[in-house]
Amino acid sequence: MGLLEVNDLRRTFGGIVALDGVTLDVERGETNVIIGPNGAGKTTLFNCITGYHMPDSGTVVFDGENITRKRDYEVARMGVRRTFQEVDVFDELTVAENISLGAFQTEPRELMDLLDLMDIRHKRGESLTLFERKRVALSLAADGQLLLLDEVFSGLNPAEKPAMIEYLNTLAREKTLMLIEHDIETAFDLADRVIVLSQGSVLGQGTPEAIKNDDRIQQEYLGEM
Ligand code: ATP
Repeated sequence: MGLLEVNDLRRTFGGIVALDGVTLDVERGETNVIIGPNGAGKTTLFNCITGYHMPDSGTVVFDGENITRKRDYEVARMGVRRTFQEVDVFDELTVAENISLGAFQTEPRELMDLLDLMDIRHKRGESLTLFERKRVALSLAADGQLLLLDEVFSGLNPAEKPAMIEYLNTLAREKTLMLIEHDIETAFDLADRVIVLSQGSVLGQGTPEAIKNDDRIQQEYLGEM
């Protein structure tokens, strides 16, 4: 059984069908990268897995336990953590305080070491660069087992991107990752498996090779790649 199993998940907003029967699975230790056009349902999928939104129907099973109707804080406590597109760090607290407040399974020191935050542990949230804020958010996600990371590269400069890839590779050695990524090359480089989401449905989930060679996905989404 996979670490995460999502079965026939459906979520609507009024007349809009954001998730139209999403089924996928994530094996322990794997990195899955979700790609898909704007409005495909990627963020809604994260929201429904992590208890920020309740799906209309379908199930989410994490580590053998049905978490579909659990609230966000319960899901987080079980080890499913996420980062947001808009990075969420308390401005008035230092890096070390942010991490001590948010981590409940791992020693803050260990999390700070993972993301090279010890040297800036006394810096307040408001004076952090975007890259530093993202690393604080990532270190908090790393307190869990399954990390759902929403567009970690957005806003980073070209010099920071390879460093971020290194951090993700470090995390991937110990954790199970799910990433939302707009850049397809980056997605294919990072992924053990790629999930292609379009109009609320999974067009395919497979190795980068398998996804590249899938004629239907080529036609509907990847075009000339
Ligand atoms: P993007 O790549 O632009 O972030 P996405 O793939 O993450 O897009 P979602 O943000 O999940 O897509 O949105 C899927 C659909 O659901 C869209 O049509 C969006 O407008 C709609 N939607 C998402 N959240 C809400 C909400 N809170 N209220 C109303 N509609 C919503």
